[in-house]
Order: sequence, then structure tokens, then C-alpha cells
Amino acid sequence: MIKIEHVHKWFGENHVLKDINLHIKKGEVVVICGPSGSGKSTLIRCINRLEPIQKGKILVNNVDVNSPKTNLTALRAEIGFVFQQFNLYPHMTVLENITLAPILVRRMDPKQAEELAMELLHKVNIPDKANAYPPQLSGGQQQRVAIARGLAMKPKIMLFDEPTSALDPEMINEVLDVMKGLAREGMTMVVVTHEMGFAKEVADRVIFMDEGTLIEENTPQEFFNNPKNERTKLFLSKIL
Ligand code: ADP
Ligand code: MG
Repeated sequence: MIKIEHVHKWFGENHVLKDINLHIKKGEVVVICGPSGSGKSTLIRCINRLEPIQKGKILVNNVDVNSPKTNLTALRAEIGFVFQQFNLYPHMTVLENITLAPILVRRMDPKQAEELAMELLHKVNIPDKANAYPPQLSGGQQQRVAIARGLAMKPKIMLFDEPTSALDPEMINEVLDVMKGLAREGMTMVVVTHEMGFAKEVADRVIFMDEGTLIEENTPQEFFNNPKNERTKLFLSKIL
């Protein structure tokens, strides 16, 4: 579903992705971890071309993400993105936040979009917040709205960039539980996170990045019990 081949990216002189190769199958859950500044956000932002690349190739469902012929709106409709900062529209209700893109991009009938939004709010366990405004919600609730908003486009892939790192500790699990549910339903997911409990429970593969390079990848079992690279070992010793 996602093919990342020999990808390089520079920000000016800064070589931030160095020959990244990664294939992700339909239904796979891949966790990416690594020190701050190692290129994790940049890598997943390249998947839906929030960032362009200078070398290599990224294919999503066999569509070349960086081809000038690619319809970006159509591509992004297939890929949900959940950010660390929830990025909800504060002046719109929860329901309006969720129905906006399906109505505008998918041309969904507004009534139908509302029904779908309510279904999704049940799924993320906050159906009672449909008419609230984001600033009235806790961080954990806002992040669950952001997930529902992503799902409303019926994406084939969900990307998560440190979805729980802006949350107070007591709210982390309510978000991770929703993500675990999605993983079990077979969603293809790429998740940048340092929540290693999540990785152990639902990841098919864990990837460690450092200084723009994909250093090590393995099953969670092997990755945590038997890390091979010294940098991986050092990183794990700091976060576990
Ligand atoms: P991570 O998510 O692993 O913390 P990032 O992908 O955010 O790492 O950053 C990788 C490198 O790219 C860092 O050196 C960072 O300073 C740089 N970088 C990230 N975004 C930008 C940007 N928009 N402009 C210039 N440099 C950037
Ligand atoms: Mg980041």
C-alpha cells in the first residue's frame, strides 16, 4: 500500500532523510520511534506530500506521490493524518469539524455526513460532544475528534504523528484505546510514537530512526527484547 524507495530529503543544507526504504502492506501497523530531530515527522509528512522529496520515490496504492500529474486532493482523501496538535477549527462544532471534508471533498449529502459523523463519535466514545466546540473539550477528547475527522473521509491509511505527546498523562489511554481499536479492525497505520506499550500490543513492526536513517526494524517482540544496533539499545534504555 505504501512504497518508500531510496528517499532523500533536504531542508536547505540539512540532509534530513537519507536513503529511506520502507514498504508497508495493507492492514499493517507500523510504529516509528527515534530521538527528536531524527526525521520521523518529515518522513510521514512526505507520504501525503505535506513535504516534497528531492530524490527517490514514494508510491501510495501505486500512485506516485511526487508526480506533477498526481491529484493531491484525491491522494490526501485516502490518507487520514492526525497531528500532535489536534488542528481542529475552534469556531466550528465537533460535528461541523467532522462533516466539513466529506461534504466539500467527497460531495457527501450533509444529512448522510452527519449520520456518519455520529457513528464515528460513538466509535471514539464521545457522542455527547457533537454540538460542543473544540475549546470546550479536554485534550484527549479533542484528539479523539481529530481521529473521527480523519476517519470521516473513509481513508485507506491513517498516519499519526505523536498523537498523545501533547496530552496530560491521564488522557493518553483514551486516545491509544481508540487507535488500538482501529488497528484491530485492520486499518493500515503508520504511527510515530514513543508509547511502547501501544507498539508491543498492536504493532506488526517497529522502526527506529536516527539522524535521518532507518537504523533498525523488527517485530515488537524482537525489537524490545533483542535490539541489535547500539543506537537502538541506547534509545530504549532512555525511554523504557
Ligand atoms: P522528528 O519528528 O524525528 O523530531 P523532524 O522530521 O521534525 O524530526 O525533523 C528532522 C530535521 O528536519 C530536524 O533537523 C529539523 O530541524 C528539520 N526540519 C523539520 N521541519 C523543517 C522545516 N519545515 N524547515 C526546515 N527544517 C526542518
Ligand atoms: Mg516529530
